[in-house]
Amino acid sequence: MLIFKTVNQYNQWYLNLDDKNSLGFVPTMGALHKGHYSLIEKSVKENKTTVVSIFVNPTQFNNPKDLENYPSSLEKDIEFLKNSGISVIFAPNVAEMYPKGTGNLLQIDLRHIDKIMEGQFRPGHFNGVVTVVSQLFKIIKPANAYFGEKDFQQYMVIRRLCELKFPDINIIPCETIREEDGVAFSSRNTLLTNNTRLKAKLLYNTLQNAADMFKKMTEKELNQWVEKTINSVEGFRLEYFEIFDDQNLKPVSNSTTHARIFIAVHVDGIRLIDNLKFKP
Ligand code: AMP
Repeated sequence: MLIFKTVNQYNQWYLNLDDKNSLGFVPTMGALHKGHYSLIEKSVKENKTTVVSIFVNPTQFNNPKDLENYPSSLEKDIEFLKNSGISVIFAPNVAEMYPKGTGNLLQIDLRHIDKIMEGQFRPGHFNGVVTVVSQLFKIIKPANAYFGEKDFQQYMVIRRLCELKFPDINIIPCETIREEDGVAFSSRNTLLTNNTRLKAKLLYNTLQNAADMFKKMTEKELNQWVEKTINSVEGFRLEYFEIFDDQNLKPVSNSTTHARIFIAVHVDGIRLIDNLKFKP
């Protein structure tokens, strides 16, 4: 397993790479956990070579405090990836990723996807995401890139990015990996106190219950129930709860087979997101 910190190092390695059509790529922001590992395992299984990037991208954080607090543990991450079967870790610094500075972000037409949920509550977030992923795709030149459904809206944004700018890269969605109590693995979970971590399972429980009630209630009633359930817990504040068709992130009817529910909650000041596909 090689560790490259510069684009030059990567380019030299890539020149001699034999089967460029079987290059898998998993972009991450580090503080790796089992959720990341499932993407990596899938890539290793489906490609001859896998590259993992570790880069905490400043331009996708709309809140400077959130960026400052974001966990980072490169040495631990390297250890974690040792026997994973990947060939390269690409771990650049900000200057390497943004040689012209962070002021000039990629603007692409994300249509309505940028105006809902994460796009609505984290202004500029997806500009940062498409900028960094576009830059990484240009450097790494993968055939296949793996993204988690944990960040389902991000996956849809990346699909749109590829439709417009990288039609040759396959984007492969990977299901959300959860801890035993249902909480989705997330680097942000390490920021929770033990007590808050225990309470965090309410997000997944609420998604499951809402999925059961979807066909029995109006959307308004369901929204009210979710708001009451979340906000009645001390330290919890609901940011959004939404139901969309997961083929296009547009509103659904009760009869759709592609409904997915999404939730964002501030849990003792830490912002957690999750989503769940309905069983038809
Ligand atoms: P991050 O490091 O949080 O930017 O995540 C890197 C990639 O891992 C993204 O494609 C995420 O959607 C994915 N990911 C994060 N957590 C999970 C999880 N619990 N299950 C599956 N994929 C995940």
